Amino acid sequence: MALLRHLDAVARRATTLRRRSIAVRLSAAVLALCWVWTAYTQMAPLSYKQLKEDLWVIEGTSNGSGDAGNIAVLVTSEGVILVDDRFAQDFSEVTAAVRKITPLPVKYVINTHHHGDHTGGNAQMLAGARVLIQANARRHMIQADMPGAPPITFTQEASVFLGGKEVRAVYTGRGHTDGDVTVYIPHDRAVHLGDLMAGTNGVTNPVMDYANGASLKAWPATLDGALQLDPEIVIPGHGAVTDKAGLLAHRNKIAAVLQRAANLVRENKSKDEIGKTMVSEFDFKPINLRPLDGLMAELKN
Ligand SMILES: [Zn+2]
Repeated sequence: MALLRHLDAVARRATTLRRRSIAVRLSAAVLALCWVWTAYTQMAPLSYKQLKEDLWVIEGTSNGSGDAGNIAVLVTSEGVILVDDRFAQDFSEVTAAVRKITPLPVKYVINTHHHGDHTGGNAQMLAGARVLIQANARRHMIQADMPGAPPITFTQEASVFLGGKEVRAVYTGRGHTDGDVTVYIPHDRAVHLGDLMAGTNGVTNPVMDYANGASLKAWPATLDGALQLDPEIVIPGHGAVTDKAGLLAHRNKIAAVLQRAANLVRENKSKDEIGKTMVSEFDFKPINLRPLDGLMAELKN
């Protein structure tokens, strides 16, 4: 999702944690039980689901609170490959969830793109794992002074081989940013799409981070590249795991949004009118409306 929103979320969570720590100090002086309750709420375990014999998803949130991304967990005989790693403050919960799945260590993390709800765990993961990201996405992390910029990049494609298994990161073009990849697990016919496919409360819609190279015009063809991998299991950046039909429906929705918005811009409709149409016809949420100025600028060209 958009970087600004991530920064908002991080700031909000930091404030919450500060408030909690004050609450902890007060309650510890008054009643020890309060401290236990506070500690428990901070350590709520993450939910995860098995998708294949060796593949799990640690489910992110897509309800706007914190808005962490989905993590794919692939287990091999020599260790674990993760796709994305949520926010920095989620690191211990992510590690705990992986440990419930397997005692083996995380050896690789592949980031789908640079946003903090997908790369926030990198800085801590780097102590024990190799971390990869598309070259444009790394540049965005450096420009935004984000911690945990991966030391390994690629432009079009990279494969990680571990324990006799392959995971492939494939760049098929611009969309949410200009540094999103589809991560493909051939033997499971599974993909993790990052925010090339992301939903809020079950509805997928495009979010363009125009400051970081997004393009609604390019997005359908980018998703065609993911469809060509012929996946059976489709893990979106946010929202429920789906299948190839779900990905195709999402691709067609992005194309419909593009066509409708392009027509409205051509008809010189106002930003307000375009926004209202997007909400009534495509169920746009506030996060989808945020890049409306950039969208209009892109479609005017
Ligand atoms: Zn994102």
